[in-house]
Amino acid sequence: MKTYFVYYTQNLKDIRKGYVGMTIRIKKYMLSGQYKYLGTDKDLLNDIKLLGKDNFLRTNLLSSTDKNEAKFWEGFYVRTLKTHISQGGYNKDFNGGVYPNPVTQKGRKIMSEKKKGTIPANKGKKMSPQENEENRQRNIGRKQSKETIKKRNESLKKVIRTSEWNEHIRLSKLGDKNPMKNHIITKEEHKRRSDSLKGKNKYPRTQEQKDKIRNTLLNKPRFKCEYCDKSFIEYYYNKYHGDNCKQTNI
Ligand SMILES: [Zn+2]
Repeated sequence: MKTYFVYYTQNLKDIRKGYVGMTIRIKKYMLSGQYKYLGTDKDLLNDIKLLGKDNFLRTNLLSSTDKNEAKFWEGFYVRTLKTHISQGGYNKDFNGGVYPNPVTQKGRKIMSEKKKGTIPANKGKKMSPQENEENRQRNIGRKQSKETIKKRNESLKKVIRTSEWNEHIRLSKLGDKNPMKNHIITKEEHKRRSDSLKGKNKYPRTQEQKDKIRNTLLNKPRFKCEYCDKSFIEYYYNKYHGDNCKQTNI
């Protein structure tokens, strides 16, 4: 069974500003205090970027294995702690949660309207097919400089991917929304691709790179499963152990 946590994140520079959120994370992680998860709200993340993580404090309000119950308390605390945006807080919805809601898509329209007003880049002129083609030709075979790649890697490191975020992405690509839905690979094409790769190692890794990957994996914090007595990194613990461990059924 999964544990849902409802938490309260407070801006210590402006203590009236707060955020109530819900997350599904490893219990030990959430309770240990070593995990500085603060929330996923865009405005909150902006302020965290601006003021630094040290100026924010997360307090766990409660945990529940029932999602609906946790959701209920999340909304309760948004109203009790007055964290709605109209009250000077960060929450966009009186019921808490990510915005727009990944299940109901509630709030999507307001978000796109907001974008129209705040991002002037969207108002730019449309390119003619000719200009489009010119741009395309110009970019063919163009290589990105090492500096560009480095810059992007740096900025990607700042992105905090939470389980809420992942769920949002998952739901946006389900069923008819799957971008590969009408993408059919014929048997011939499949064979051609397979043949072209045979006997080749297209991107061989140097020993240095291999060591780096190994060390990263070895240095990740491990969590001991209380049922099978073995230790795992967060991903595997979450997926196959803890409350999901096969040993619990015996
Ligand atoms: Zn286990």
